[in-house]
Amino acid sequence: MTVLRDQHGRSIEYLRISITDRCNFRCVYCMPEQGLPWLPKQEILSYEEIVGIVRELAPLGLRRLRLTGGEPTIRPDLASLVAQLKAVPGIEDLALSTNGVKLPQMAAALRAAGLDRVNISADSLRPERIAAIARRDLGFAPVTAARAALEAGLDPVKLNVVVMRGINDDEVTDFARLTLDFPVHVRFIELMPVGEMAHLTDAHIVPSDEVLARVATLGALAPAEGPRRGNGPARYHRLAGAPGTVGVITPMTHTYCGSCNRVRLTADGRLRTCLYGDHEVNLRDPLRAGEPLEPLFRQALAGKPLAHDLLQLRVGGLKALSQVGG
Ligand code: SAM
Ligand code: SF4
Repeated sequence: MTVLRDQHGRSIEYLRISITDRCNFRCVYCMPEQGLPWLPKQEILSYEEIVGIVRELAPLGLRRLRLTGGEPTIRPDLASLVAQLKAVPGIEDLALSTNGVKLPQMAAALRAAGLDRVNISADSLRPERIAAIARRDLGFAPVTAARAALEAGLDPVKLNVVVMRGINDDEVTDFARLTLDFPVHVRFIELMPVGEMAHLTDAHIVPSDEVLARVATLGALAPAEGPRRGNGPARYHRLAGAPGTVGVITPMTHTYCGSCNRVRLTADGRLRTCLYGDHEVNLRDPLRAGEPLEPLFRQALAGKPLAHDLLQLRVGGLKALSQVGG
């Protein structure tokens, strides 16, 4: 078997699949309040097409998948997609990124279908503030969602917090305290400049070193191993005696491109080899024409950049991270 490697020798074993560009939230840093021009239904990959792509990539070394969006839980019958993907030979690990609104109802069925783990986005623990940041009041309760995920047996359960100065940075210690009570992994993410919401970054970014200094006011904080599965770009720490960990994801202040092992599939079937920039290959049309995909995967990886140019604040053609699954 030839394992897929990009032109810099990084092996590619992780695919993030955006299954919809739509969302039931309008997070201030992600998309405009009126939404985005959504993709027409016929342009979106069917579940059968997504599974077809994964079947072709798995023999080349693909091992791990993440379903994301937009908001993946708003697509009907998500559990059937989970079951079909988990059944593809070679796929060892299947994760979900969600805003968590529907998790209390869906966690058990998704776990039963084969979902291994979940990342829940939660930018506040206060109901009014959650509604203000998401610009929708859907009754999202992060702790309830996390509990439902833990009770369903999803492991690990990560809570992703985008920290914004003057908006939710006063809750850093409240989030970190959750790791003392629950075996959850709270990850603080630096705000990134993307699309129409890019202007927020200058005024509201909080560097992760500052976030960790605030967490350390709660007690001794030591570097820690990350969760058993799914170690991505986060750097982890643990408060003394805590069952959970605190992580930071630092796209703005430290780059981790050198160990990047991921590619992304957009909801309309474009394979993107880097979050930023415009390196992508259309897989949907060749797939629908019955053409082989392997040469296209190789072509895409040959163009995977060594590092993204986020640090220079050149943000490519993206309107929102929801278009590529974050
Ligand atoms: N709707 C799901 C969710 O919110 O988890 C999945 C898609 S969302 C685009 C994936 C991740 O991207 C979320 O954790 C979200 O917080 C993050 N994200 C979106 N825009 C961002 C930005 N400008 N800066 C940092 N993170 C961002
Ligand atoms: Fe939706 Fe996730 Fe973007 Fe929020 S971050 S608007 S939940 S896609």
